[in-house]
Amino acid sequence: MLLAAHEIATALDGSSPSSFSDRICFDADLLDHHGHSDWSTSNTSNRAVAIVYPHTTEDVSLIARICYAHAVPMVPYGAGSSVEGNFSQPHSGICIDFSRMDRVLALHADDMDVVVQPGVNWMDLNREISTTHGLFFPMDPSPTATFGGMVSTNCSGTNAMRYGTMKDWVLNLTVVLPDGQIIKTRRGRPRKSSAGYNLTSLFVGSEGTLGIVTEITLKLAPVPADTSVAVVSFPSIAAAARTASALMRCGMQGLAALEIMDEVQMGMLNRYGSEAVRKRVWDEKPTLFLKFSGTTEGIRQDIAHVEKVIDQSGEEAAVKFHFAATKQEENDLWAARKEALFTMVSTRPAGTVLWSTDVAVPLSRLAEIINISKKECSALGIFATVIGHVGDGNFHVAMMYDPNDAKMKAEVGKVVHNMMHRALEMEGTVSGEHAIGTGKKECLVDELGLETIGLMQTFKRAVDPKWIMNPGKVFDMPEDIQRQG
Ligand SMILES: Cc1cc2nc3c(=O)[nH]c(=O)nc-3n(C[C@H](O)[C@H](O)[C@H](O)COP(=O)(O)OP(=O)(O)OC[C@H]3O[C@@H](n4cnc5c(N)ncnc54)[C@H](O)[C@@H]3O)c2cc1C
Repeated sequence: MLLAAHEIATALDGSSPSSFSDRICFDADLLDHHGHSDWSTSNTSNRAVAIVYPHTTEDVSLIARICYAHAVPMVPYGAGSSVEGNFSQPHSGICIDFSRMDRVLALHADDMDVVVQPGVNWMDLNREISTTHGLFFPMDPSPTATFGGMVSTNCSGTNAMRYGTMKDWVLNLTVVLPDGQIIKTRRGRPRKSSAGYNLTSLFVGSEGTLGIVTEITLKLAPVPADTSVAVVSFPSIAAAARTASALMRCGMQGLAALEIMDEVQMGMLNRYGSEAVRKRVWDEKPTLFLKFSGTTEGIRQDIAHVEKVIDQSGEEAAVKFHFAATKQEENDLWAARKEALFTMVSTRPAGTVLWSTDVAVPLSRLAEIINISKKECSALGIFATVIGHVGDGNFHVAMMYDPNDAKMKAEVGKVVHNMMHRALEMEGTVSGEHAIGTGKKECLVDELGLETIGLMQTFKRAVDPKWIMNPGKVFDMPEDIQRQG
């Protein structure tokens, strides 16, 4: 692996290893940072031997050719915000950091699409194009996330209810295959095509296990004419989920996001929220966060409609509404939702770690699975909160526990395991948006079955016969490849 790293350094820089600090790094702290995440429970102890920093697709191809020749694992790295050990390096290898491939290559405003390098951050792109061109990219995972990682995890976020997930926004990809070949999944930028296999979708969500994404053509959406936010608190999760389901079914065009936070998470806002979030005292009850977008008049009608749906739902006696009166208040209310995870992680007791789950179920089963999961967490006496993209039936339980307490760790693991199996029993999925990484490989088998996993492995073997692309993710390395070392 070190030999490959030195060959890469020399090839990229054309210089001796002592002077290549700009394109390759062996620093132990940086390697640790690139191989571990506080957000993730699925960390491994192995680290890559080096981090390389490509600037172009050709650099990536060169890196891949050298790694392929030496059968050395390659692990792409975006911003490191994924939470299932997706960028960890259980088989060591070379970490490919895309922070220097962070250019917007072409913006076609009239066609509403953009070509970006994988290291572009989605918030930077939106800042750049929203005011100048009235366009934006709607997926909103971690504020730090970059497009290479977002494509590879098929991410989504609060806007998925209205805009779908990452797979719906990718028009084509440039991909470097494990042996260094450069391919495009589609050469043009048509907004639809039924020409041939849909290779773009094969790479979206493949977690860097099939190839390395070096250019991405994305669709863009028009910035809505107006937006607004409302929060509605309920006496119980069941009442909140019932109302969410009623709101979804009434087909309101302007309802763009529908999020839920439980009473524990609402209490965190009052105690540890940012200054903007603590401008108001939050009702410490299960709360729906509603985002509206459209015309001002349309939003006004939608808000009236929401009130009517709640009036007719029978929950109205115990419900408290709050609609943003100003743009500032709208931002402050939504900040409470967007900052929730950060608030929780930054205030977790010393010595504890976070285990965040990510299951999705059909809407009608959401209240039931959240309630059972909350009961199981309470029985353990651990601190646990619920945040959910309720409009998609997707929720996260974040549990904090002492990792040195082996019994507790096993019990938390059992709660997580139960949650995933319950989701499957309810015809849901073990991963709504965080992908599989190293953390959910066994559950993926339970979800898809051996035959389907077998077909995925056949694709992987065809594209990556030496099994060097982000090995150990999604599924285990087959024994015959392991035996070859
Ligand atoms: C506070 C917080 C909030 C979050 N909220 C959400 C949310 O609402 N919705 C959601 O979906 N996710 C969310 N996430 C998870 C995370 O932001 C997403 O998984 C995101 O897509 C990861 O992007 P990244 O750039 O950090 O990728 P990384 O974590 O660096 O990498 C993710 C995966 O992509 C692979 N990869 C990276 N670059 C490439 C490339 N160029 N080619 C091929 N493979 C590549 C990596 O090997 C790895 O397998 C959240 C995370 C945090 C910490």
